[in-house]
Amino acid sequence: MASKISEELQRVVRVRADFLCEYCHAQEAWQHIPFTIDHLIPKSVGGKNLPENLALACFHCNRSKSARLTAIDPSTGEVVLLFNPRQHLWKEHFVWDANGLYIVPLTAIGRATCDLLDFNRERAVRIRQADLEVKRHPPAGDPILAADPTFER
Ligand SMILES: [Zn+2]
Repeated sequence: MASKISEELQRVVRVRADFLCEYCHAQEAWQHIPFTIDHLIPKSVGGKNLPENLALACFHCNRSKSARLTAIDPSTGEVVLLFNPRQHLWKEHFVWDANGLYIVPLTAIGRATCDLLDFNRERAVRIRQADLEVKRHPPAGDPILAADPTFER
């Protein structure tokens, strides 16, 4: 059985993540439910409680990802790796749309992850809209698409 993740290790993971869900970039400070610590390699297949195997994840992303390492790219139907915050850079796979409301995937990994974790579900978009209005979204430093009236989501 995997042991519990120590308070200190949880703190290390939170600070490293800049208090963002490392998948959907929700900000923990404004959520009702504290974020969870995701095992990139699931505990069920031997994933360890080590910093390199852990990521900060909101409840929704963690639950949606569950023990998966792969998902289907909705554009090609191929099975591809899920986004791995320890191996991949968020900004290479995702960008905010020009309004900052929708996560736009840039790659097959991005598409599969966006689809499986349902990044742009209605509730998440409503929360982003409210956070935008009080200027606490998108997170500082995140890439945002230039306004493009021809862009289709
Ligand atoms: Zn999330």
